[in-house]
Amino acid sequence: MSSPNILKVAIPSPVFGLFEYTSESPIEAGCRVEVSFGRQSLVGVVMESSQHSDYPLEKLKPVKACLDKTPILPADILSLLKWAADYYQHPLGDVVASALPKLLRQGEAAHIAEDIYWQASELGKTQGEALLKRAPKQLALLNTLLEHSPLNADRLNALREKWRPAMAELVKKQLVDQFRQNSLPPLQHKAVSPRKLNTEQQQAVDAVHNSLNQFKSFLLQGITGSGKTEVYLELVSELLARQQQVLILVPEISLTPQLTRRFEQHLGIPVAALHSGLNDKQRLNAWLMAATGQASVVIGTRSALFTPMPKLGMIVIDEEHDGSFKQQDGFRYHARDLALVRARNQNIPVLLGSATPSLESLYHASHKRYALLKLRQRAAHQSSTPKIHLLDVCQRPMQDGLSDILIEQIRKHLSEQGQVMLFLNRRGYAPLLMCHACGWSTDCPRCDAHMTLHHHSRRLRCHHCGHERQAPSSCPECGSEELHIPGAGTERIEVALRQLFPAARISRIDRDTTRRKGELQQKLEQAQSGEAQILIGTQMLAKGHDFPNLTLVGLLDTDQGLFSSDFRGPEHMAQLIVQVAGRAGRAEKPGEVFIQTHHPQHPLLQTLLHQGYEGFAEAALAERQQALFPPYAHMAILRAEAAQRQHAMTFLQQALEQYQQQNSAIEYFGPLPAPMERRAGRYRAQLILQSENRKALYSLLKACTPTMGKLPGASRVRWSLDIDPQDVY
Ligand code: ADP
Ligand code: ZN
Ligand code: ZN
Repeated sequence: MSSPNILKVAIPSPVFGLFEYTSESPIEAGCRVEVSFGRQSLVGVVMESSQHSDYPLEKLKPVKACLDKTPILPADILSLLKWAADYYQHPLGDVVASALPKLLRQGEAAHIAEDIYWQASELGKTQGEALLKRAPKQLALLNTLLEHSPLNADRLNALREKWRPAMAELVKKQLVDQFRQNSLPPLQHKAVSPRKLNTEQQQAVDAVHNSLNQFKSFLLQGITGSGKTEVYLELVSELLARQQQVLILVPEISLTPQLTRRFEQHLGIPVAALHSGLNDKQRLNAWLMAATGQASVVIGTRSALFTPMPKLGMIVIDEEHDGSFKQQDGFRYHARDLALVRARNQNIPVLLGSATPSLESLYHASHKRYALLKLRQRAAHQSSTPKIHLLDVCQRPMQDGLSDILIEQIRKHLSEQGQVMLFLNRRGYAPLLMCHACGWSTDCPRCDAHMTLHHHSRRLRCHHCGHERQAPSSCPECGSEELHIPGAGTERIEVALRQLFPAARISRIDRDTTRRKGELQQKLEQAQSGEAQILIGTQMLAKGHDFPNLTLVGLLDTDQGLFSSDFRGPEHMAQLIVQVAGRAGRAEKPGEVFIQTHHPQHPLLQTLLHQGYEGFAEAALAERQQALFPPYAHMAILRAEAAQRQHAMTFLQQALEQYQQQNSAIEYFGPLPAPMERRAGRYRAQLILQSENRKALYSLLKACTPTMGKLPGASRVRWSLDIDPQDVY
């Protein structure tokens, strides 16, 4: 009998290292296998196969089943995942699992499911209009199919509401053909003829074009509206002509429908969108279409980085500064940083785009690690960059968080048919409720935080742990009915605006008003069409949306961000201000921006106003250098949380001692309680590790992390390691 094959399998478990199994017939790396693991049966991925094992063969179990005939993860993805597991010191099994769509993790077969498609029939094309004179809904749907076709339910849902009854009629009348298919049919609409690029756009395109088929990193720094997307489109067309694939990562899910449509219209091909709005089947299908090379363009959020693409020719990271590229729990990877690794491995260019690049990326550009490409002007010739005013609100009359000057401005812009957007990064009615008589306030019983008042539902809700209860009408401590409501959230602003401007159409966009499926999309469409005259929203409004009528932007409360304890606080604040301001005046009408603050002399605001984002970035980088913060040093945080304060601190102290025995050039800060120490009833603490020497930090963590769970205090805490942390408080 020939010796069995030894398989090293990555299994989704918190244990570091691979597990060995045997198999009669050889199984290639990248195939899934079903194996018994303890008492469970799990799906793992073969990482290596060999003839040798350090264990006695009779101790190894045979795999129960092999689920793939050919690898579902190709060698390049396997090596990227290995690199990432090693760099982020995270168990490889968990890393591999996070690269797979859920259905593949669960063992589902890796083939593309059939889907139903509709397209206009010959009869529909020639006589639809005449035959549907009395059926406007059906005609409208037929016209959609004539514009881009064929369409499946997923695409139709993105384009039209409640289309199914009309479609059934159209099929019955034979104006539309319905068919099933298990591959992505080509779109039949005509590609939009490309715009003539301006000089800077053309220079950017040429620079990347000259580096196709080699690894090179580019930072495309272009102000909002400067035509960065147009640059991506031009390059993508070029790659398509060379039969290559392109991967585009974007921060937010709410951005993808717009962007996906723009790419499809421009390129005349279907784009595979990988986002959390898909159900498991759709996600698997899109993933497989990319992996089989059927989809030439993939647009997706963070985890789309791991999609296999056999003919990948370029990676684009849009809004590269955005924090959502960093995963904040479990496998804490940064998709932008890993994109550079993938591009280097595959010898292709990577293009990072932003109006407000991260300080890290600007640092790399200034050290010539990235080629810097700049777009300094808005592309559409009519529009100009908005004028920014600082509004000193000290001592000024305020009404529910709105200063009198801002209210006047809103009135003026509305009367001139402009659109107004107010930005406040705090949802709910007010951040707390407070007793005027005794000072009692609505503290969360489980967190070191206040509970937010939600007016409409009359409830108090903790935004950190979700704890909620009825808002009291009198003080539970002293019985006083004089309850004071300090501060304002988006809900309160909305209520105030409805009183001030009863005739205006007002739309609030935050997590509370966009919970239901389709709600966000609908609200964004109303904002875009100009149907909504005043928009009030959080973070969600700050990103990439294009509102052509917007003329006035108000930032209601920037002071919080000015005094953040996170060393990245000022950077995030500056990015937010510039991004939000960039929403104004995108079409013919010029834009104005008002920033309400109690600290108009704050250096961050002054530098930003007078020297722009670049001036700010230069000053901020100089500060980071002086304080030896990233990118001038490398950082990791070991966090622990426990039911008792002492347990978290003890574990971190033990970890610190273990680190110090290794004797390397590392600075330690802590262990210290986290700034918000208690959250959801658990105490949190952290130990910061920092070094100018990345290798020293890496070796230390590599030596200590796999055995961290064996420290005596480990069983009483939940601990995690965050390498290159984005949120540091
Ligand atoms: P960004 O991605 O930098 O915010 P976009 O690519 O969305 O900018 O471009 C902003 C607007 O300018 C869009 O409406 C786009 O169609 C238009 N635009 C871009 N490039 C050109 C160009 N070369 N000529 C005319 N209009 C352009
Ligand atoms: Zn009281
Ligand atoms: Zn809470």
